[in-house]
Amino acid sequence: MFIKASGSELGRMTCTRGWRKVDIAEVVKLLNRLLESKTTPAKISKGLLKCCCDGFNSTAMPSIETFFHALLGRCVVHLHPVYLLPYLCSQAGKELLQAALREQYDFQWIPFRGLGVVTAGQIQQYLQSGRISHQVPTILLLSNHGLIVSCDTAKQAQQVVGAVIKICRKNLPALKPACLPQRKQLSMTCDRIRDSLGTQSLSMVVKPVWGNRIRTPDGSLPQRQWFKGIITPEEITYLAGGIVWIEQPEMNVIQKAIIRHQNKTGQTPMAFYVNQQGLVLAADKKHMALYQDVFVFYLQIRAWAMRMNGLKPLPAKYLTPEGMM
Ligand SMILES: [Zn+2]
Repeated sequence: MFIKASGSELGRMTCTRGWRKVDIAEVVKLLNRLLESKTTPAKISKGLLKCCCDGFNSTAMPSIETFFHALLGRCVVHLHPVYLLPYLCSQAGKELLQAALREQYDFQWIPFRGLGVVTAGQIQQYLQSGRISHQVPTILLLSNHGLIVSCDTAKQAQQVVGAVIKICRKNLPALKPACLPQRKQLSMTCDRIRDSLGTQSLSMVVKPVWGNRIRTPDGSLPQRQWFKGIITPEEITYLAGGIVWIEQPEMNVIQKAIIRHQNKTGQTPMAFYVNQQGLVLAADKKHMALYQDVFVFYLQIRAWAMRMNGLKPLPAKYLTPEGMM
């Protein structure tokens, strides 16, 4: 099986970098061994590297998601689609998905248990007990995470993924532009956030998100509770532990919010929502465009999820590197 290397970007993949070839039977054997013993990141890395059969003299590890790919059909697509995440990260999402997909597709809901071994173990259990069949297409919806589609052909997989995303998108509430009454004061707030973050690298910029336009289901402004908790592992990696709510653009309020975030997540925040003013991003110049996209989409995901009986944050025990295994 060909699979992306852990931590690499699809856009930078070359003929010899960014991917690994693994022996599926070896991966499944390793999974069974790891599930029996208490596993550690070191054991997983060592084990997964031994499953590689591409002849590369490389320490690039296959994705931690290799395990569940190895269990399923010939063509397995796994994504974290923006239009599915509101369902996967909200209280009423599962029921709403059932209602939306019922006529066309069956799916299996998988509760969140990390990204790697434990989730794959759950899927293996479902396969063994017959709750998931090897019939195609197989659709798995992973709470607080994403979508897995398993098919016989790449064409069918692509078609099913497209259709599921389209149905989910169509059933989201329409969004209306929200008016940010104090948006002109945002550049002054950016300076205060920069000062509060302290001296970072020279290439770090703190500025309003391009356009600073916000769309919400009813045109009202975001509230504090929209930003509570962490809803996906992606928010940990791409948004440094989530979006920080700034109640008032004052120095002491900003500093307190930053310290609270650091204590809670162990990360220095990079995404801020300033009440009445809008979005601020603190990031390296090189990555600004990517993080802006992630930030704006996550604001929308949270807005939609608020309308689906509220957010369903990740339980605290998963918010550590070990919890994500
Ligand atoms: Zn994933």
